[in-house]
Amino acid sequence: MIKHTLECNLNMDIWERSKARYIYNYPAYCRTCNGWGGQWDQYDPSPAGSEVSPGFKTRFTLCPKCIEIGVCPRCGMTMREPDEEADIDEACPFCGYKLSDMEGIPDEPECTCDE
Ligand SMILES: [Zn+2]
Ligand SMILES: [Zn+2]
Ligand SMILES: [Zn+2]
Repeated sequence: MIKHTLECNLNMDIWERSKARYIYNYPAYCRTCNGWGGQWDQYDPSPAGSEVSPGFKTRFTLCPKCIEIGVCPRCGMTMREPDEEADIDEACPFCGYKLSDMEGIPDEPECTCDE
């Protein structure tokens, strides 16, 4: 068993609670993207081996299980025609979800207590 620091315990607690609240409010949220509507990932745009300091950039990929096919990532309702282009400022008519709000189940806080 790992002994967690007080701060770590607190962070976990806050996370567990906001997660539980989200699931309670939006039980039909998208399990693939956790309600975010997509996924951020990091990539390094500088060519490998170059002298440029590693500048990581983030990009957002639409979730193929919800927003990309017109389904709201938060309430699970169809918010637009599947062949329509996703509009980041278009609000879901059912729950008000907007891609540009960047809202979803927060990521689990990082725990470094076992290091
Ligand atoms: Zn910990
Ligand atoms: Zn999704
Ligand atoms: Zn919705």
